[in-house]
Amino acid sequence: MMVNRMPKKVVVVGGGDGGTILANRLLRKVPDQVEVEVIDKSDLHWYQPGFLFVAVGEADKEDITRPRRRLYRKKVRFTNAEVEKIDLDDRKVRLKGGEERTYDYLVVATGSTLNYEEIPGFKEAVNHMWTFDDAKKLFRKLMEFKGGKLVVGVGGLTYKCPVAPLEIAFLADEFLRIRGVRDKTEIKYVSPLERPYPPRLLSKVMVENMEERGIEPVTYFTVDEIDPEKRVVRSMEGDSLEYDLLILTPPHKGADVVINSGIGDDEGWIPVDRYFLKIEGYDDAFAVGDATALPTPKTGVVAHFQASTVADNIAYEIRGESKRVMFDGQSFCLIEMGRGVASAQVSNYYYKDAPGLIPSRVLHLAKLAMNRIYWTCILSGNI
Ligand SMILES: Cc1cc2nc3c(=O)[nH]c(=O)nc-3n(C[C@H](O)[C@H](O)[C@H](O)COP(=O)(O)OP(=O)(O)OC[C@H]3O[C@@H](n4cnc5c(N)ncnc54)[C@H](O)[C@@H]3O)c2cc1C
Repeated sequence: MMVNRMPKKVVVVGGGDGGTILANRLLRKVPDQVEVEVIDKSDLHWYQPGFLFVAVGEADKEDITRPRRRLYRKKVRFTNAEVEKIDLDDRKVRLKGGEERTYDYLVVATGSTLNYEEIPGFKEAVNHMWTFDDAKKLFRKLMEFKGGKLVVGVGGLTYKCPVAPLEIAFLADEFLRIRGVRDKTEIKYVSPLERPYPPRLLSKVMVENMEERGIEPVTYFTVDEIDPEKRVVRSMEGDSLEYDLLILTPPHKGADVVINSGIGDDEGWIPVDRYFLKIEGYDDAFAVGDATALPTPKTGVVAHFQASTVADNIAYEIRGESKRVMFDGQSFCLIEMGRGVASAQVSNYYYKDAPGLIPSRVLHLAKLAMNRIYWTCILSGNI
């Protein structure tokens, strides 16, 4: 097969977990055969799993951010700009201000945004940790809380990091215990599903630990609306719960640029094929991470595995090799549970009900270690 020696132009829209690992890995694989440009509207990279620790006062901005430019291999061109339009047919990307980029390969890694409008009363009433500012605010609320009814759990159903509401329930329990107000606090964990977490075996581990800590699971509770004045949250099933402090997952949708460019579904998630992450109908355009409409959890780990798959396949194609790798839905998560322990779970497209590991100190230490080695992982592009 003839190999084209002209460097291929790869444009990556979104330089979060997925975009960063893709750019670095691709340059490691074919350093002289690509020109990689990452475009992101923010020049700061947030390690979002750190928001959980911010919410309980165990981390702050300097622990969980790095200037983006420091996270790329030397040859990556980083442009700090907002992309306004993606035109897959004309192979063009338009930046705010009018500049345009053309490409040989495009990777969309624009993540997700919060969609408060879906639940009336949500913005006024709910505390959460899905942004840094909200995590800081939640920390203040937990510090000021004098006891009463704490309702915590799943608000909107599509959200990033499926285990995060469980984690904050366990950490809030521990935090309030340390503050000496836990015995004046009733904690309920709400979920729209038949159990607190979809995979049966992991849910069993979670429920056992909830019972041990006095957290009451409330299932089939699909949050419909919230009355911030009466402090009541109502469900589609017709039930209601009073609260003094409400911590719920905000509903998410795809990035505005995906919606405005007409390349996503009704909620702005991009349809891709599940093994190669090609945007439906295109051979030169891919999407990775939270931006995709795949049934995989919206997590950094999944974004990493998807980005590696796409980087490797673009590299094979550029080298003129016929080999390809497939993404098998692989996911892995460490679940922080307070009291110095954590659990973990692995899954993929075919193995969805893996047991949650018995909570242990070792897994908690692994979670803390991940908070640090994350920066090395994305720079090396090697995971
Ligand atoms: C509280 C919390 C806890 C979490 N815990 C974990 C965990 O324990 N393990 C785990 O694996 N994952 C966890 N996650 C999820 C993880 O952070 C995300 O799934 C991951 O960041 C997704 O990567 P991504 O590249 O798809 O999107 P992101 O990392 O969100 O990056 C998207 C990027 O696109 C940019 N962008 C968007 N639109 C535009 C535009 N128009 N122009 C230019 N740039 C644009 C954004 O600025 C952003 O930098 C957690 C998340 C939260 C909030």
